[in-house]
Amino acid sequence: MILDDWIRQKHGIETEREGEIRCWQLKRITELIRRAKSESPYYRRLYDDTAVPDSWDAFRCLPFTDASAVREQGLQMLCVPQGEIERVVTLTTTGTSGLPKRLYFTRQDQDLTIDFFYHGMALVARPGGVTVVFLPYERVGSVGDLLLKGLTRMHTKGIGYGLITELEDAVNVLMTNRADSFVAAPVQALALACYVREHGIRLFLHKILLSTDHLSGSVKKRLEADLQCEVYDHFGITEAGLGAAIDCPAHCGMHIRENDLLFEVIHPESAEILPDGCSGELVLTTLTREGMPLIRYRTGDYGKIERKRCSCGSFLTRLWASGGRIGNEIRHRDGMLTMEDLDELLFAAEGLMDYRAGYQYADNLLKLHLVFYAKLPGNMTEFIEMIQKVIREQTGLKTEITAEPSMEIRPQYLQKRTILRDGENE
Ligand SMILES: [Zn+2]
Repeated sequence: MILDDWIRQKHGIETEREGEIRCWQLKRITELIRRAKSESPYYRRLYDDTAVPDSWDAFRCLPFTDASAVREQGLQMLCVPQGEIERVVTLTTTGTSGLPKRLYFTRQDQDLTIDFFYHGMALVARPGGVTVVFLPYERVGSVGDLLLKGLTRMHTKGIGYGLITELEDAVNVLMTNRADSFVAAPVQALALACYVREHGIRLFLHKILLSTDHLSGSVKKRLEADLQCEVYDHFGITEAGLGAAIDCPAHCGMHIRENDLLFEVIHPESAEILPDGCSGELVLTTLTREGMPLIRYRTGDYGKIERKRCSCGSFLTRLWASGGRIGNEIRHRDGMLTMEDLDELLFAAEGLMDYRAGYQYADNLLKLHLVFYAKLPGNMTEFIEMIQKVIREQTGLKTEITAEPSMEIRPQYLQKRTILRDGENE
């Protein structure tokens, strides 16, 4: 209930009472759209014939915005003079779409994320404890930098490390500082866990936080077993100011910081609003963003939400960011196969540190290259046959599987891992 206490203290909203946060959000939406219409040329045009909404039904009739609007008309979305922008995040995307996506944040926008990290991190880090941040932190306003600022506020020693490139060194930093928590991308944390298990090392970890990519159940289970700690998940996309939703002790979905962000879920093709619990495209509205508010912005990510009370007592909406990027799935005769499905299946294998997945459309062939820590498992042939059988039965796809042992961690993963297509390189 840490987020709930924060929201109560900050805004006086009783999040344990059903509907209270929704009322507050609707008032913010009315203010937001009034301001966007008056200050931003893009929104003024978009809402030209539309009245400022005063009900949820009216809000849900507003047109969507999307990545192409951000790419092509980003500056016109600004609601403040450009001089007030403190940080610009440029996202280059794969493919040939051309223009990069740029997102603009004022100091106040970044402070809101730090405030969320300060309170959200209290679920994982302890005052007086030590937390190592295995995420990029050197640039002011980067996710690691904002996390470290949040940790300082809660009197936790935060150590900025950056992405792990050498496992031994990363483990040494955890050991010598007696770190009781860390923050990392799931696949990087898994590589650490492989190293720790292989070398019989016992760390001092109490809790860890995973961020930047989907956390599958099988990865979570191995991390809990090998690192002997409680695992928390976090969802943060740049558009949402890097921090959006965090796990609670009930571990049943991540609670959204609803005092700043609103998520809806729509059907990716028909754009119809989906009921709670159904998976679809996450649509984001930034309720308190000053510089470049996003209103009904189609994120291009699969996910689902639930507004029922959580067993922790909170009515803050919970989010599951599962399914990955829309368009990255492989369509097959019975539905679709996503990177997350592959994570769930493959990472259940002890010692598997990483893998690459590629799909050859012409041959309907899925190619998997598995990277095991230090050595291949003894039952490799049976393991490969089992994986091929499961994928064939569930999807009808042919699979070609190769494997290698490695002691080295691949240093990338600043973005979500994806299934590569014909001719695509990493
Ligand atoms: Zn909860």
